[in-house]
Amino acid sequence: MGVINRINRDYFQKSRAKEYEHLISAAVNQGYEVLSVIDYWYLIQSKSLKDGCNYLVLRHDVDVNNVSGNTFFFEIEKKYGVKATYYFRLFSMKAHLPLISDLKQAGFEVGYHYEELATLSKKNGWGASKCVEKNRAIIEKAFCENLSFFKQETGLTVYSICAHGDWMNRHLGIPNQTQFSKEFLNEQNILLEAYDSSYMSAFDVYISDVALHPRKWARNYSVMDAIKDGKSRIYFLSHEGLWFPNFLAVTESNLVILREKILWRCRQIFKWRPAEMKNA
Ligand SMILES: [Zn+2]
Repeated sequence: MGVINRINRDYFQKSRAKEYEHLISAAVNQGYEVLSVIDYWYLIQSKSLKDGCNYLVLRHDVDVNNVSGNTFFFEIEKKYGVKATYYFRLFSMKAHLPLISDLKQAGFEVGYHYEELATLSKKNGWGASKCVEKNRAIIEKAFCENLSFFKQETGLTVYSICAHGDWMNRHLGIPNQTQFSKEFLNEQNILLEAYDSSYMSAFDVYISDVALHPRKWARNYSVMDAIKDGKSRIYFLSHEGLWFPNFLAVTESNLVILREKILWRCRQIFKWRPAEMKNA
């Protein structure tokens, strides 16, 4: 994305609160059952998905500390009596702890938005996929420790997790979710990874709000398009930053990314690695 487009998207976009409310109310009025990621998974497992019924699964990937934005999402969903899943990174968890408590009380799902592959690659200056492959055990150990910390801080049982898509993943050409086998996740009592192929194939359409500005929808196809087209099983990913502008949250995130990129580049150039990684 060009710098101008990025600045426009991050700092000059208008609130899309009305649009979000419109699509939720349209789904409810059209008879869609609107539910969380894990509740849809339970329906699949129990073979309870009904032919002729419409389903809309709401997934929020919480990438930045835009608490007001996520509270908007939550308030609109509560108003229409629907449920959703919110995935928090370690980076976005702390600021959202009061909201997480409210989500839990309201019966929403909260999961872990993990990124250990990207985080360790940045920390250690890993640049090639081979280097990452050699360090699988280190990545799994970090995931277990971070998941445990996430559960401890939030007081939650985590049933599903979802990979964050980081700039480092784009650089490596490897998404975070490719690192973990189903067996490994089962050992951690995780029932589902939100990108699991068998889960995603249980939908007619996957809709994302990640698009090149000024477009608002991936493949230029919105939730309203899917409802109008009569899609009966819709999986919808959204990010608060693309719906509710928040100057401080987006600036904090952009500064963190800038710092990460500078440090990572320095580590690559000067071949600096922490002592424990010297033999990795
Ligand atoms: Zn993310």
